[in-house]
Amino acid sequence: MKDLFPKKHFESWQKAVEQSRKIVLATHVNPDGDAIGALMGLGLFLKKEGFEVTLVSPTRYPAFLSFLDPGKEIVVYSLNSKASAHAIEEADMIVALDVSSFSRIDELGKIMKQARGYKVLMDHHTDPASREFDLVFSTTQISSTCELTYRVLKAWKEDAVFSKDQATAFLAGIITDTNQFANSVYPGTFRVTSELVAFGADTEFIYDRIYRNFSYNRMRLMGYALQNIRLLPEFKCGYIVLPRDVLEKFGYSNGDTEGFVNLPLAINGISVSAFFLQRGNHIKVSLRSKGNIPVNGIAREFYQGGGHLNASAGKMEDSTENIEPLLKKALGTIIA
Ligand code: 5GP
Ligand code: MN
Repeated sequence: MKDLFPKKHFESWQKAVEQSRKIVLATHVNPDGDAIGALMGLGLFLKKEGFEVTLVSPTRYPAFLSFLDPGKEIVVYSLNSKASAHAIEEADMIVALDVSSFSRIDELGKIMKQARGYKVLMDHHTDPASREFDLVFSTTQISSTCELTYRVLKAWKEDAVFSKDQATAFLAGIITDTNQFANSVYPGTFRVTSELVAFGADTEFIYDRIYRNFSYNRMRLMGYALQNIRLLPEFKCGYIVLPRDVLEKFGYSNGDTEGFVNLPLAINGISVSAFFLQRGNHIKVSLRSKGNIPVNGIAREFYQGGGHLNASAGKMEDSTENIEPLLKKALGTIIA
């Protein structure tokens, strides 16, 4: 498979790795399947290579992803800040996964930015904050951070062998970030998927755990979400709002709304979807689109966020009444 990055990237990587014993891998706030998959896939690989590896997530991951971390190896900063901060300060090398900058790792990112270790970025978002890192493996022309990380490891060690657990972790990230092979799919995505299956990745197990593992509460909440899709036909947009009282009524727990943002896109004639989730003192905003409608532009400009062309997110601090007027204003800037 054609290498994604120039040879000198791998020379720098080799040199840094040779000088490292302790390595910390970290990913973004509210980690998704790609974040946890890359953390586990790369983490298990480096552990087998003999490094002392610490895996850190700024916040908890949703319960349905726990199958990727059977040994509970991921240290959650919000629950155990001392242990994660200590590992970061001690690390010879720090790898940030599935983020474009340290700011997406919040508090923990600040500690990482100031740490003495050699800093590496492995990511697939736009506009990587390259200046914050010593070495950057970043391209948007790829399905996921899991695919990218796997390909970096293959380019580094041609004869690399991956365990069933590593292959499953990487494939879980590819499946979730591509929305089950619907978006961001390139020829390399299927080549890597084929190799991961050959290494023992269990597709049925992944599907069972991620897509056929919902709580009764989540199914009922999805019922509410489906019944309450609001349409803005003039913008080809459908959106869902889940305010606090609704979440309470359905016994919401973290991760229950995973994938809800995609529901309006299944309606014919709808090309943009938005999902608003009341969380703490702000509203989390998720945006999705079909084709070349750039929702990352409005995530940046109107919702203090960003992301990919077809999948972005951000937040708003207004009350729920302001959701529709702001959304209309935002959509007006990208849809004629
Ligand atoms: P989601 O809706 O699944 O939470 O996020 C969709 C995409 O937007 C993800 O790829 C995520 O990395 C990106 N994203 C989410 N929140 C932010 C943010 O605050 N800033 C930026 N730049 N990207 C974000
Ligand atoms: Mn990703």
